[in-house]
Amino acid sequence: MSARISLNVGREKSLLRKHPWIFSKAINKIKGKPMLGDTVDVFDSKGNWLAKGAYSPESQIRIRIWSFDEHQEIDRDFFFNKLQKAQVRRDWFIAQGKLTGYRLIAGESDGLPGVTIDKYDNFLVCQLLSAGADFHRYTLVSCLKELYPDCHIYERSDVDVRKKEGLEPVTGWLTEPQDSTECVIEEHGIKIHVDIATGHKTGFYLDQRDSRLTAGKFAKDKTILNCFSYTSTFALHCAANNAKEVINVDVSQSALDMGKRNLDLNGLADANVSFVKADVFKLLRTYREEQRRFDMIILDPPKFVESKAQLTGACRGYKDINMLAMQLLNPGGILLTFSCSGLMEASLFQKVVADAALDAKRNVYFVERLQQAADHPISSNYPEGYYLKGLVCQVE
Ligand code: SAH
Repeated sequence: MSARISLNVGREKSLLRKHPWIFSKAINKIKGKPMLGDTVDVFDSKGNWLAKGAYSPESQIRIRIWSFDEHQEIDRDFFFNKLQKAQVRRDWFIAQGKLTGYRLIAGESDGLPGVTIDKYDNFLVCQLLSAGADFHRYTLVSCLKELYPDCHIYERSDVDVRKKEGLEPVTGWLTEPQDSTECVIEEHGIKIHVDIATGHKTGFYLDQRDSRLTAGKFAKDKTILNCFSYTSTFALHCAANNAKEVINVDVSQSALDMGKRNLDLNGLADANVSFVKADVFKLLRTYREEQRRFDMIILDPPKFVESKAQLTGACRGYKDINMLAMQLLNPGGILLTFSCSGLMEASLFQKVVADAALDAKRNVYFVERLQQAADHPISSNYPEGYYLKGLVCQVE
């Protein structure tokens, strides 16, 4: 029989709103001896059944909820149905964008806390972040094999958050090993190389798909600086839309090298696109000293905020690069600026960009708002799933 967990008085509130996390401080009593990843039953302080979830003895998030239905077994059928539903939820925009790379499972937002599954052509890449996700790994793999018989499955659970769950990093093939870990995906008519073993995260930043399309829309005849370019996919959309010039900047040489290969792959080898290995914070200052000017600048930095304590420092970082970028723009120039830090809310991000405008002494108009693509859904029960925010700014 599964262990029974009772919550402190009033701590059932978030569960009644179907939020999937229970913090250690919410727990009053534990009946039984649940182990790492075991399914437990959760009750309110009066003994009413609330939910069942995965137990994680070392994590601050002590339980992640699998189901709010008392009769739901957490078995193969449960996972199979979740995977099937997630695919159906995505079918419409996969067809629309002719996507061969997309996030199939986005953890809590798809009802599978701690589970990330990305599909890149015929590779499936799993990232198992929580005790519960890790516990059910073979069930998940078995379901994926049945649903996607032509796919090879690879694990990229090489992330620090696993430590908080008492789990070691794990990477490697979960099905028959393949000779290569590279493939090509296609989104909105652009082809992109992805290496699932050495690429960032599970290989690629799928979440920026729609914003890359937006960049392309503004690109014609423009001189563009693409900061934090990774494999230069914003630049591909810009070059394909007849940009005058695109400069990609990243600290990772291997990412820039793959960017060059991406240009070739799309028949854009002759486009005026260059690659600079540099720290964006420093390069923007150098360009300011050199009085360089651009018509469009893209700022897509990595996550600056891992905890609330880092928020103030992060605001400073965002303000700094946004101010510098605004100073480098010609009058009427376009700034596409992003924050993928979940802890930085959209309203705060807009305020930081507004502060940057004051410091840069420029008038800025927010002409479009961008967010993560639809394969990174935002569930009404899990607002934390909204993490990627973008602003298209017209800078006078
Ligand atoms: N725009 C990309 C994703 C960017 S992810 C896309 O659409 O695919 C963030 C990138 O910033 C990573 O490639 C990382 O190597 C790079 N990076 C991190 N810190 C940096 C810095 N200080 N200067 C330049 N690049 C940096």
